[in-house]
Amino acid sequence: MSPTNALSFDLEHWFTATLLREETTDPVVHVERSTEIVLDLLDRHDVTATFYVVGEVAEAYPDLIARIATAGHEIGSHGHTHRPLFELTPEIFREELDHSSDALEAAVNERPRGFRAPNFSVTPRTEWAFETLTDAGFEYDSSVFPVKTPMYGVRGAPLRPYAVNLDAPFAAGGPPRPDALTEVPLAVFHPHVRLPIAGGFYARVLPARVVKWGIKTFNASGTPATLYFHPWEFNPAVADELGDVSPHARFISSHGIDTLAAKLDSLLEAVEFGPVEDVIDEATTCSTERGVTPSEGVGQ
Ligand SMILES: [Zn+2]
Repeated sequence: MSPTNALSFDLEHWFTATLLREETTDPVVHVERSTEIVLDLLDRHDVTATFYVVGEVAEAYPDLIARIATAGHEIGSHGHTHRPLFELTPEIFREELDHSSDALEAAVNERPRGFRAPNFSVTPRTEWAFETLTDAGFEYDSSVFPVKTPMYGVRGAPLRPYAVNLDAPFAAGGPPRPDALTEVPLAVFHPHVRLPIAGGFYARVLPARVVKWGIKTFNASGTPATLYFHPWEFNPAVADELGDVSPHARFISSHGIDTLAAKLDSLLEAVEFGPVEDVIDEATTCSTERGVTPSEGVGQ
C-alpha cells in the first residue's frame, strides 16, 4: 500500500507573504473567499487536510477557523504575526507560539499539535526553534525544506518524517516516536536532483503530471510526500490586487493562480492525501510494527 501523502494549506493574508508584505499598502482582504474555494474543492473529493493558521487571522475570523475544523481538517499554527523566524529571538518565538495557540484554541477548543514556520524559516540559523517548539508543547514541526532555494531550505536534510534529535536536528533521527518532536519535511524531487515540488510557486509553475510523478517517486520508496498551498493562491481576485508590486513579486506571487484549482483537482483525483497528523500517526504505527531502523530511511 502506498503511503498516504500529507496535504497542507498555510492560511494567511495574501499580503503578508514574504515578497509582498513590504510592497503592499491598504490591501483588500480575501481570506474568507479564498478559504471557501479550498474547502469546496476538498469537500468535493472527500479529502481532509491540515490548515496552518496565522494567529492574527484566527483572532479576526474565529468562525472561519471553526468551520474548517468542523469540516474535519486539522488546525495547526503558522505563527501569530507571520514573521519569519529569522526576525525573531527564541523568547519572541515562544511568545508567538503561545499567542497563536491561544487564538486557535479560542476558535476550535483545541491547541494545535503542529507548527509550520512562515517562509520555511527553520534552518541551521534558527535551529533553536526545535527546542522552543518542544518546550511549548508542540508534537511536530513541518517547516524543513530539504533543498536549498534562494529564499529558504536546508541542503541534505532528511526527506521522510523523523524524530528530532535536539543536538542534531537536521540529521535523520529515526522514525517518529511519541516521546520526541517529529519533523515532517516538505516534498522535493528525488533521488537524482533535489528540486522543490511541494507547493506554492513551484506547484503553480510545474504541470500536474510532473508533480504527480514526483509524488509517485517518493511513494515508490515508501515515503509520504508533504505538499503545501496557500488558500489565496486559489483566488484569481488576488492577482487583480497586485497593481503596485514589482514585476518579480507579481510573477512569483500570481503566476498560475487561475489554473491552480484545476491542478489540485487533478492531484486529488490521482493521489491519496490526508492531514499531516495522520501521516505522522501512520509512520509512528508502521515503525513500531515493522521495527524500522533509522538507516532504512530515505535521504539520510
Ligand atoms: Zn505563510
